[in-house]
This record gives sequence, C-alpha cells and structure tokens, in this order.
Amino acid sequence: MFKSLGIFYLCAVLSWALAFVIFILSADLFFNGGDINDEVMICAFGVTACAFGILARIEQTSLKDRSVSDKEDINETATDSFIDPNKCRNCGNKLQPDQNFCEQCGAQRTPPQ
Ligand SMILES: [Zn+2]
Repeated sequence: MFKSLGIFYLCAVLSWALAFVIFILSADLFFNGGDINDEVMICAFGVTACAFGILARIEQTSLKDRSVSDKEDINETATDSFIDPNKCRNCGNKLQPDQNFCEQCGAQRTPPQ
C-alpha cells in the first residue's frame, strides 16, 4: 500500500464516519420507516465502510513492515561502522589511518570503538 500514516488515519476516520452515518440512517429507518431505496443506501454505506476499514488495516500492516525495515537499516549501518572504522560513516569512503576527516565529504572520522 502507500505506507503513509496519513492514509491510514484517513481510511480509519472514513470507516468510522461511515459507520456513524449507517447508525443514524438505520435508526431513522427503524423509527420512521422507509422504502427499499433507504435500505439499499444503508447497505452501500456498509460496504464502503467495510472497504475503508480493510484499507486502514492493510495500511496499518504496511506501516509496521516499514518500521521493522527501518530498524534493520539502522542496525546494518551501526554494524558496518563497528566492523570497519576505516570507512567514512557518512559516505562510506575509505579513510587512511592518519586521516581525521573524510576527503570526499568532509565528515569527521568515527572514533575507534
Ligand atoms: Zn565521507
């Protein structure tokens, strides 16, 4: 999906808003009566609310996937700098033992661990 927190909130809010509309319409149908068109409309709202609910759930799942992969990326970067202190932590350029700054990007050398 879109892997966006905004999309997740949008779908969740729309789902709940539609559920609220269905509740109002059902109450109106129950107390005041209505014809077949009202029932069809409530069913249509119900299907749409379910669709948005599912979308929100899918989006939530993909958000979890993204946060997991983000953590893995951070761990990889930390592991790289731990294994090879002779590499620039900023751009990966190889550093000479006497170099305190990266000649490619100017970043300060990672202190030896
Ligand atoms: Zn660099």
